Amino acid sequence: MEKTVGRVCPQCGRVLEESFVVCPYCGKSLTITSKEEKPRSKGGLGSGIASVICVVVGFFAFGIILSIVAMITGATALTRKGATGKVLGAIGLIGGVLEFIVTLLAFIGLNLGL
Ligand SMILES: [Zn+2]
Repeated sequence: MEKTVGRVCPQCGRVLEESFVVCPYCGKSLTITSKEEKPRSKGGLGSGIASVICVVVGFFAFGIILSIVAMITGATALTRKGATGKVLGAIGLIGGVLEFIVTLLAFIGLNLGL
């Protein structure tokens, strides 16, 4: 059974009885609004920022490790909601891939004594 608690209609703002599943004033369905209005997963902003930071820091130290972290967090940010997070995630992902390649080539070069 649906559990509807005494609430305010999210669409028209009227106070409704808890037994209502549809707002009698505006017709807004009330059973799915609680899920709609509270998306469980946060936006990818945090992951996107972390990804970009990993790329930047990776230029100075721990290039391989941080480039991998940047790729993972960047990809994570891309799967989440939030435009800013997606942009940062894309930057972090691409930056991470480039950094991984550059660092790997530099590492190989050093070991070959080039
Ligand atoms: Zn309403």
